[in-house]
Amino acid sequence: MADPYSWINKSLNTIHRANWYRSVKAIAGKPGAVVELSGKPVINFASNDYLGLAGDQRLIDAAVAATQVYGTSSTGSRLLSGHKELHRELEQAIASLKQTEDALVFSSGYLANLGTVSALVGRKDLILGDQYNHSSLKKGAILSGATTIDYLHNNVADLRAKLAVRSLYRRCLITTDSVFSMDGDLCPLPELVAIAAEFECMLLVDEAHATGVMGWTGAGCVEHFNCTGTKLIQIGTLSKALGSLGGYVAGSAELIDWLRNRAASWIYTTALSPANTAAATGAIAIIKQEVSRRKQLWQNINYLKQHLANLELLPSQSPILCIQLNTPEAALNQAQKLIDAGIFAPAIRPPTVPTSRIRLSVMATHEKQHLDLLIENLYK
Ligand SMILES: *Cc1c(COP(=O)(O)O)cnc(C)c1O
Repeated sequence: MADPYSWINKSLNTIHRANWYRSVKAIAGKPGAVVELSGKPVINFASNDYLGLAGDQRLIDAAVAATQVYGTSSTGSRLLSGHKELHRELEQAIASLKQTEDALVFSSGYLANLGTVSALVGRKDLILGDQYNHSSLKKGAILSGATTIDYLHNNVADLRAKLAVRSLYRRCLITTDSVFSMDGDLCPLPELVAIAAEFECMLLVDEAHATGVMGWTGAGCVEHFNCTGTKLIQIGTLSKALGSLGGYVAGSAELIDWLRNRAASWIYTTALSPANTAAATGAIAIIKQEVSRRKQLWQNINYLKQHLANLELLPSQSPILCIQLNTPEAALNQAQKLIDAGIFAPAIRPPTVPTSRIRLSVMATHEKQHLDLLIENLYK
């Protein structure tokens, strides 16, 4: 009898041979600009903690205090026993940051996209998504059962051409990341808003890498592009610049009411933990008030962009800077050389992205000496 699991070993060997194999590396201690990797301090260019809030004492204190009051688990789904005043406070803080009527907190950004996309459209409907959208938007589209068409990355003309079939469908949803997570460029939001209005489409923008980073108050690309107040659906995460865990949707009161009734990944899962909820609420207050963190982050980004201009840098308007390399092996070699020099900057390879690259995430808490060491080693 053949072993029904033998395919796993074969498939693992295939991804090994292609240099696509991935494994996890443990980071010790608190998050920060310098972390310990395999017992050795390294400068961290691999973190989504753009503003350095995940190790902030005020947020640690808020998480501990909430745990003392509410315990370690929410112990149930929001509609049953899991809902706390803490959750409502966080949702009101998100709605106020985003200037929307309401917001809904999910257990992760991934679940927010799965639940929202599948609650908005179904079999009679159409989704047009940017080809480089995050995995969670793509999987949400599959889950919804809607006809899904990818348009070329940030290509408004292609989107328009593909909307020719719009009238064959009941509802239509356009989906896009606002900051593209593996490239660092921005979606053309004002054009997308106009096209959505013209073709009577809903528009969903995933602000995961933009919240806390883009816009004067840190509200994201919707603020950056002056689209605040537009009727669109904003998704995001509490786990990047906000230094916590969880996801959210912000939009009209009716939209949020509908999701509370129809988003399965919100209804049938345990409410976000008290610790993460309180930390996220604290982080929103900080990102609004401490504009200096965002200023420092952008100073660091601009300094690096200036000094890396002679490398094959992908176009970026965000803290995500990517240096293109020809093969997965070249990317792995470069990442290893950087590690040897005390710099943690991962190689990103297919199938995550079409072309291999070193991906740098800039933080507000990087010091000039950290950036200079990176620049020096990237030119070696
Ligand atoms: C990280 C990310 C998510 C997922 O958020 P989590 O809270 O980590 O699950 C969703 N969309 C985009 C664009 C992301 O970058």
